[in-house]
Amino acid sequence: MSKLYIIPTPIGNLEDITLRAIRLLKEADLILAEDTRNTSFLLKHLEISKPLKSYHQHNEHKTVSELVDVIASGKNVALVSDAGTPAISDPGFLLVRECIKAGVEVECLPGPTAFVPALVNSGLPCDSFVFVGFLPQKKGRHTKLLELKEEARTMIFYESPFRLLKALEEFKEYFGEERNVCVSRELTKLYEENKRGTVKEVCEYFSQKQVKGEIVIVLEGKH
Ligand code: SAM
Repeated sequence: MSKLYIIPTPIGNLEDITLRAIRLLKEADLILAEDTRNTSFLLKHLEISKPLKSYHQHNEHKTVSELVDVIASGKNVALVSDAGTPAISDPGFLLVRECIKAGVEVECLPGPTAFVPALVNSGLPCDSFVFVGFLPQKKGRHTKLLELKEEARTMIFYESPFRLLKALEEFKEYFGEERNVCVSRELTKLYEENKRGTVKEVCEYFSQKQVKGEIVIVLEGKH
């Protein structure tokens, strides 16, 4: 039976792709990519040549039913995003949901994603956590932060380097400056950094330098 395979790809270090991910990309009839140029680079590195089709947030609603039909007709389709696991702050959820509705098999491979190493590196409790992802940039940001004020579980945020300081300043205001936090930057890459401390300490540290690279913030829950 044909399937939709959700294939995680490296978040920096190309060695992090799994053997099964490589095999399934080789065997797929079609690869759906968030950005075909990025994925072509990865496929070239893996010496894989396959038909690629773009699948991103601007065309997912338009193309989803046609793609479900393609898989239902017997084709194996692999979905990849630019980095990490598709559907985790990336396109994928809609296609998975529609495949399930149509009785089409879906299989997500385990593999790279930024939030798991960030959570484990933080040293904060990992037994129970909330994945927040990106906070809304304007409308809804205050409501979301208020909603999290009483949250007792460890919280995980994705954030752009340009908004890191703004987020940490807001964390002081909403969660208190003594709350523990860890900022993971450039995970799996040459300049990986995991900066741990209170919100106040970590905010001071990053305010003294130009913040670059990709970032995950892991925040302690309320005691
Ligand atoms: N699908 C991806 C995943 O599974 O983690 C997430 C995609 S989302 C569009 C991109 C965000 O993930 C970045 O803004 C950053 O917050 C986080 N991220 C991705 N790669 C990272 C890395 N190497 N180090 C730290 N954060 C990373």
